[in-house]
Amino acid sequence: MSGILYVVGTPIGNLSDLSPRAVETLGAVDFIAAEDTRVTLKLLNHFSIKKPLVSYHDHNLRERGAAIIRRILDGESCAIVTDAGMPCISDPGEDLVRMAAEAGIPTAVVPGPSAAVSALCLSGLPTSRFCFEGFLSTNRRNRQLHLESLKNDPHTLIFYEAPHKLLNTLHDLLRAFGNRRIALARELTKVHEEVLRTDLEGALAHFTASPPRGEFVLIVEGAPEDAGQEQPSLEEAVAAARELAAGGMKPTEAARVTAAETGYKKSEIYAGMLRD
Ligand code: SAM
Repeated sequence: MSGILYVVGTPIGNLSDLSPRAVETLGAVDFIAAEDTRVTLKLLNHFSIKKPLVSYHDHNLRERGAAIIRRILDGESCAIVTDAGMPCISDPGEDLVRMAAEAGIPTAVVPGPSAAVSALCLSGLPTSRFCFEGFLSTNRRNRQLHLESLKNDPHTLIFYEAPHKLLNTLHDLLRAFGNRRIALARELTKVHEEVLRTDLEGALAHFTASPPRGEFVLIVEGAPEDAGQEQPSLEEAVAAARELAAGGMKPTEAARVTAAETGYKKSEIYAGMLRD
């Protein structure tokens, strides 16, 4: 019988956020796959957990992943953890879960904090629909294409960013989206936790004056719902009103309805309808 792969969330700063179930799971598995074994060892020592660790990070995903899967198939249970937050979210884990699923290995999650959702909750921006975008590419062209693809997206957007790249990213966001509301959540759950709720221009001014320090999540307001929709020309509005009138609506009523839909004045649409 194979073992189980547990995906275990760890604190993003405050060690008290490690859940009792996470402690129990880390203490019960046969081994732990950790992004950085030194970081995880500190966490385990804090909770007096002794457990064999194997490193599992971006540069050994394939061969180490295969070895971990073999061990689980042979009956051992494994917990995957990363340095902070939820595995699989801009962190290793996705491949291992996929490989486990393909091998028919049972999986279970022990949820913990994720900086993305924690920051979203404090942002004061709409939370009902959001899009996690992770880190922007360091390649200039890919970054531009990524931002361009989001320009008309109405969802609240979530980005991770390193402090030394923050100003550059704020410039790029402003260039791509125009000025929008943004919340910058810094050092969540730590001593210097803070949320700056401002707009992109305000954020640029703020962090130009006092350089960013610590870990950041950027929560950016989505595009207005009508973004990307072309405003019809006056001629198109007049044509639409004529069509309504041809369908039996009184011309003044057709002009009124079209005016409400397009933003043109009723009088200019009506005048256009009277022209040849
Ligand atoms: N898997 C993690 C999670 O679920 O949040 C994210 C890992 S990603 C490699 C690291 C990024 O998460 C940082 O660069 C920062 O953008 C964000 N982050 C992590 N901890 C944070 C904290 N305490 N406060 C603000 N942002 C944080």
